[in-house]
Amino acid sequence: MGLPPLDRSTIWPFENGELGEFYYQRYAHPTGVEAERALGELDGGEALLFSSGSGATTSVVLALLEPGSTIAVAEGCYYGTPTLFRELERWGLRHVEFDQTGPPPDGVQLVWLEAPSNPFLTMPDLEAAAAHPAPVVVDATAATPVHLRPLEHGADLVLHSATKYLSGHSDVLLGAVVCRDPKTAERLREFRSRSGIVAAPDAAWLLLRGLKTLEVRVRRQTETAIELARRLESHPAVEVVRYAGFGGLLSFDVAGDARRVETATRLIVNATSLGGVRSTIESRHRWEGDRVPENLLRLSVGLEDVEELWADLERALAG
Ligand code: PLP
Repeated sequence: MGLPPLDRSTIWPFENGELGEFYYQRYAHPTGVEAERALGELDGGEALLFSSGSGATTSVVLALLEPGSTIAVAEGCYYGTPTLFRELERWGLRHVEFDQTGPPPDGVQLVWLEAPSNPFLTMPDLEAAAAHPAPVVVDATAATPVHLRPLEHGADLVLHSATKYLSGHSDVLLGAVVCRDPKTAERLREFRSRSGIVAAPDAAWLLLRGLKTLEVRVRRQTETAIELARRLESHPAVEVVRYAGFGGLLSFDVAGDARRVETATRLIVNATSLGGVRSTIESRHRWEGDRVPENLLRLSVGLEDVEELWADLERALAG
């Protein structure tokens, strides 16, 4: 059983002068619809693809909020999310940061959580958020539907940077939103067609391929990450380990210079991003400045052998 054929058409003929299911790629294309069906099943809602995770975030807030609205966003989440919200302040969108391990503040029109947060690895209090009157978005990029299906915990929308685990091979930029309410999905679909923040057929096809191995990749990455987090905990050159207890993402603070450690690994690639089959490590300070400790390293665990990964980390930590 292979994947559906990749159709790169931008147009499809009208049927007796009427619009068929597909007519212009910006509205919908067959590979995208297939991939959305597959992801929708995994998360238990209606999925829509976007050009990237950031494109998905932009679409959610511009399509669903009004100028003057305030978003309560989880402190310590992916730094690009509040950075984007700051960019949108000029258009009248406000945001406040809050500790997602407790209830969201009153008087906001959208609650934005991250499960687990990147790179602090905190988990949101989903029950407290679901009790809040505002709609709740959970960025579940790092959890994936293998570990968490936020719609089952009262969230209204799930957001994924499908660039990461869902596609899984560091070769496609892609975002997704999964909606509980079909009306919200319809509004997002309308906004997406108008704004053009769409996913190309090739990207959707790579997602379909990635989803076939999602569960086996994520389970293996989790197993390895649990073991590495445990060993890092007792390493004398490591001050703090942050790990949610599942998933392939963790971060830790080193006693010395993080830049020296990240450039000393050989098997683990010194690169940004996460969720690929190859392990990557980086100092987040280069991107986030004082928002993170200068000695914090983020590690995305890939599919390499756990002993080889540990040997690489030990050697790098020893200098
Ligand atoms: N959300 C999280 C948790 C991320 O880690 C990222 C990217 O690093 C994004 C969203 C943004 O996704 P993209 O890079 O696909 O725009």
